[in-house]
Amino acid sequence: MLEKITEGTATLEDLDKIEKLCYYIKNNSLCGLGQTAPNPVLSTLRYFKDEYLAHIVDKKCPAGVCKSLLQYVVVADKCKGCTLCARVCPADAIVGTVKNPHFIDTTKCVKCGACIEKCKFGAIVKK
Ligand code: SF4
Ligand code: SF4
Repeated sequence: MLEKITEGTATLEDLDKIEKLCYYIKNNSLCGLGQTAPNPVLSTLRYFKDEYLAHIVDKKCPAGVCKSLLQYVVVADKCKGCTLCARVCPADAIVGTVKNPHFIDTTKCVKCGACIEKCKFGAIVKK
């Protein structure tokens, strides 16, 4: 289920299922350990519900951690067209000419992050 959430394929019904399962475990466990085992999950549902919804409804990871939900993008007005990012990209996903803003082809990008590390101008961001 966690995988479905981080990949953005989970649904709101899945969220309900998680909550129901937590209460089922709480109510049917014989010992205290079992009864409290779902508490961390229930706490995240209570205090970080907006994070779950961002992943499920908006297909975004606000913390910029879930690789499947990220996109690497060039901010055109910060890009100096130095070509460094294109030269390190292992997927040949960055196009552009010298001294002109570059562009990342998201269909080719494998989200390795090499470009963002190389850009000295902070012109590549994760969205
Ligand atoms: S490394 Fe940065 S400044 Fe250079 S071309 Fe790439 S995005 Fe533009
Ligand atoms: S994240 Fe990796 S694959 Fe994607 S554009 Fe940057 S260097 Fe290329």
